[in-house]
Amino acid sequence: MSSIFRTEAVALRISRHSNTSHFVAWLTPDRGQMSTLVKGARRPKSEFFGQYDLFQSCELLYYERERSGTHIARSIAPIKTRTELRHDWRAYCAASYVCALSMAVGAPGSPDREMYGVLNSSLDALASGLPPIPILCRFETLCMKSAGWTPGVESCASCGHKLDSPVAPNAPIRFDSVRGGVVCNACDAHLPAAADTLSLHSVNTIRHWLRAGSQHPDTRALEHPRNRLLEIRRVMGTFIELHAHSPIRGRQLTYELCSLAGQRRVEEGQR
Ligand SMILES: [Zn+2]
Repeated sequence: MSSIFRTEAVALRISRHSNTSHFVAWLTPDRGQMSTLVKGARRPKSEFFGQYDLFQSCELLYYERERSGTHIARSIAPIKTRTELRHDWRAYCAASYVCALSMAVGAPGSPDREMYGVLNSSLDALASGLPPIPILCRFETLCMKSAGWTPGVESCASCGHKLDSPVAPNAPIRFDSVRGGVVCNACDAHLPAAADTLSLHSVNTIRHWLRAGSQHPDTRALEHPRNRLLEIRRVMGTFIELHAHSPIRGRQLTYELCSLAGQRRVEEGQR
């Protein structure tokens, strides 16, 4: 007989498995990524009806079939529904991308409390109506950290010396994705022409996110000038593509949609 387990879980992807069942991919704190069949979920009088949806945190009871295979859901109950996301297309778009990136870089079968915490705090922030772009930049930074690819911002990724502040605070600092982080001035001089650079302010923003960790981001910590977020977005794009070995589908479109909407909101506010 298979054992029954209980876990908290966020629904990352829900797809049709048969005329009567759903296949649900989850992120859990105890098992990382896992998937369940939800038998009977598509029947009109299913006990699962209304108990789970995309981006929701749920309590999941399941029968374990195989260590890394698809398990069978026994019961599901919502903990946080985040229904606000259904009424804000920008936030919905950003939440979809956040779940897609979690699926692309997360490891199945092993505990991942940090990734689970980052996903939850980011979905909470999006549902509460905070601006999506800084939430996305913060999420990408922390998501890569919990996947084991922390962007190096404390010391030079080439020689290992603690990063000195540049002479001018606005002087660009090289971020070398291949080496995994920022590069000091001395090492930068020996490298080919820089592709991605960050200002000291952007480096400090990334440091702040990494040090603060996965807890709910406070609103002040998410107020960043547009040019700083653009720098971080560009650097993280190269970094993710390199470590995930492929571009993440929908990333550029998500940022573009969220940026356009942000612009319009400012213009409306200025009228
Ligand atoms: Zn160096």
